[in-house]
Amino acid sequence: MAEHFPIEISPPDISRYRAGNTGVEYVHLLDSGRAGPNVMLQALTHGNEFCGAIALDYLLREGVAPRAGKLTLAFANVAAYARFDFDNPHRSRFIDEDYNRVWADEALQGPRDSMELRRARVLRPFVDAADLLLDLHSMHEPCRPIMVCAKSEKSVAFARRLGVPGDLLLDTGHPAGLRMIERGAFGDPASPRTAVLIECGQHWEKSAAEVAIDTTLRFLALSGAVEPEWARSRFRLAPPAVQRVIRVTEPVVAKTMNFRFARRWAGLEVVPKAGTPVATDGDTVWKTPYDDCVMVMPSMIHLKPGTTMVRLGRFSV
Ligand SMILES: [Zn+2]
Repeated sequence: MAEHFPIEISPPDISRYRAGNTGVEYVHLLDSGRAGPNVMLQALTHGNEFCGAIALDYLLREGVAPRAGKLTLAFANVAAYARFDFDNPHRSRFIDEDYNRVWADEALQGPRDSMELRRARVLRPFVDAADLLLDLHSMHEPCRPIMVCAKSEKSVAFARRLGVPGDLLLDTGHPAGLRMIERGAFGDPASPRTAVLIECGQHWEKSAAEVAIDTTLRFLALSGAVEPEWARSRFRLAPPAVQRVIRVTEPVVAKTMNFRFARRWAGLEVVPKAGTPVATDGDTVWKTPYDDCVMVMPSMIHLKPGTTMVRLGRFSV
């Protein structure tokens, strides 16, 4: 087992949300009865990343109610979350496969079966109906919050209007499968439908829960789903002075179980010199392709052939 990071927050009891009101367990749809955006907030896409569940629990306790449109709050991989254990947190990331790699039609409509595919198939109508989607995550390693915008410039523009967090990420996707925020119209520049994914910080940091709550409130205010003042009066954090975009140029994908980092990298660490060894994998040596290369979410925890171990990118305005 990897090292144990300090535990500052506890997984919330979400059993009271099981019935929901949609016919799908742990999915709540609040309908204002008025025209407006269809907004979706999703927590527990990864069952061990519970800061999002803390944020949704907070909103439901505060009596969040849309003034326009519809608001869907979904606890996604509840089966994986149900077996959460601080001594083996990775075990609750998913049951059979990563729920955030099954969002291509070929997977959802294909013959394959898994716990995650079953859950994605019942949640898909909510995802496909959403005009705006926020997917709440946290990271295994300590790192500043990152807004993952996939390959979508419109998601970057949205995150700039949101004003948080300071680091916005344009990446190259995962070879293992399509993420929810990349699905259908979310990935179409011509469509106004927009999705973003926030990595709130290390899984168990108190600040990850604060970031999740703050970002969710800002998202609701910007969407017009709730009274802006209702949300604003509850903001937790000061927005960053500047937001910067990191453009990923290449993922470093493990080929074998012999993948090793050349040294320990901090999340969003900037490597000054081109040609600096990043990692080895058998005979393969990965080096930084340019000066000031940003190490995006380096982690050994998910090592498996075909898994992205770190993404290499650079800051741009
Ligand atoms: Zn995640």
